Amino acid sequence: MKTTPYWWDYAPRENTPEITPPATVDIAIVGAGFSGLSAALTLARSGLSVVVYEAGQLGEGASSRNGGMVGSSFHKLGIAGLQAQYGVEKTNEIIRESVGFVDFIDDFLKSEDIDADFKRSGRFRGALSPDHFTKMASEFENFHKSCGVQGSVIQSGDLVAETGSKCFHGGVVYDMDGGLHPAKFHNRLIAKLRAIGVAILANCPVTSINRTNAGFTVHTPLGTTKAERVALCTNAYTGPQFRYQHRRVLPLRSAMIATDPIAPDLMARLMPKGRVCGDSRRIVAYYRPSPDGTRILFGGRATGLKDNPQKNARQLHAAMCNIFPDLETTGTSHVWSGLVAYTFDHAPHIGQHQGIDFAMGYCGSGVARATYFGQKLGYKILGDQDRGRTAFDDLPFQTKPLYTGNPWFMPIVLNWHRIADRFGL
Ligand SMILES: Cc1cc2nc3c(=O)[nH]c(=O)nc-3n(C[C@H](O)[C@H](O)[C@H](O)COP(=O)(O)OP(=O)(O)OC[C@H]3O[C@@H](n4cnc5c(N)ncnc54)[C@H](O)[C@@H]3O)c2cc1C
Repeated sequence: MKTTPYWWDYAPRENTPEITPPATVDIAIVGAGFSGLSAALTLARSGLSVVVYEAGQLGEGASSRNGGMVGSSFHKLGIAGLQAQYGVEKTNEIIRESVGFVDFIDDFLKSEDIDADFKRSGRFRGALSPDHFTKMASEFENFHKSCGVQGSVIQSGDLVAETGSKCFHGGVVYDMDGGLHPAKFHNRLIAKLRAIGVAILANCPVTSINRTNAGFTVHTPLGTTKAERVALCTNAYTGPQFRYQHRRVLPLRSAMIATDPIAPDLMARLMPKGRVCGDSRRIVAYYRPSPDGTRILFGGRATGLKDNPQKNARQLHAAMCNIFPDLETTGTSHVWSGLVAYTFDHAPHIGQHQGIDFAMGYCGSGVARATYFGQKLGYKILGDQDRGRTAFDDLPFQTKPLYTGNPWFMPIVLNWHRIADRFGL
């Protein structure tokens, strides 16, 4: 069993030579995931000089490790919570913008001519209890009526056309959603940026940033750069040197496995429509066919904040077999994990603090959103108010008293969610 992402077999990480950071630059971007690369693309296209620093190898963070599932992510926003905090109108604005995220990524890939195996397969969400089904169906109807979300409610009698699993009591299909190959997407973005002269420095962690009269000085172990503006795109990997953002994101580990190849007739029975999938449990489980349709890639919350591949593989395989008992004897070829960034209001945040621009906090749904908010951040830095505007602009980026960036309490919260899931609450 490999302990690197399945995706890297087809889009390997490169051995990047050490490059000394430039002495001066217009824009310095910290973090070479989708947020940082997308911001860099927008900024470099307008003629500015841009450098991107990456602490690890390129794709070290979540962007080349994720499930590649693309959606609007509105059900992750905690609609009731948002309404309570920001009112119905603002919440609707946020949801309406979110509905466009999949179209955004579709257009982005097309206009940039990036082949990343993107397919609008639709997303199936299964309901694990009759109560969950009622809630899920009415939530879908609301989204359909208020924001034009396309899809259908699947009654329990019609499930066999959607899934080979017997554990659901109905479900909902979101037609607009789909999947892509995240590591191919990441590699193609890197190639595109290099082609337009953006310097991307791997193994070059930014250790501190000082504000000066002329802008900023960015410090790394390989050298120092003077930059007019700095964008922080470090999401769940944000370190304590960036205290403001560090205190506002909750890093959680998400893990995935890839199965050994599955016989085509079994694959066709388990995932007849080849959709990306999830279900109604609180502790997220997500799964999809590999882009070539030969395997299942199955993900969920990891066993702890530290990586534990063997334990994660066992737990994810067991969770997968609860849904698809036919896979009991199917082996695991890959297990891997990465960090996702939750926020206290379940929404991503984009803004500026002490002159440093940032976009982060995608709550485990960042393939489309990081690319989208990275682009918005680029426009904001350019001073393009219209194209930089988003409904997420003025959401206060909350922290909690005594939260210093170490989510020590999350195992307790997650255990409570596990118990709630077991009892179908
Ligand atoms: C296992 C897993 C499965 C997921 N599945 C999905 C999915 O199916 N669909 C979906 O939409 N989302 C998914 N996500 C979430 C998604 O991958 C992320 O939200 C998204 O990639 C975030 O992109 P980013 O560019 O903001 O951050 P990242 O890609 O994490 O990039 C941040 C980078 O900043 C670098 N960095 C940090 N500090 C410094 C520093 N001081 N100096 C230089 N560099 C620094 C890090 O090394 C890292 O590479 C998943 C995530 C994981 C881990």
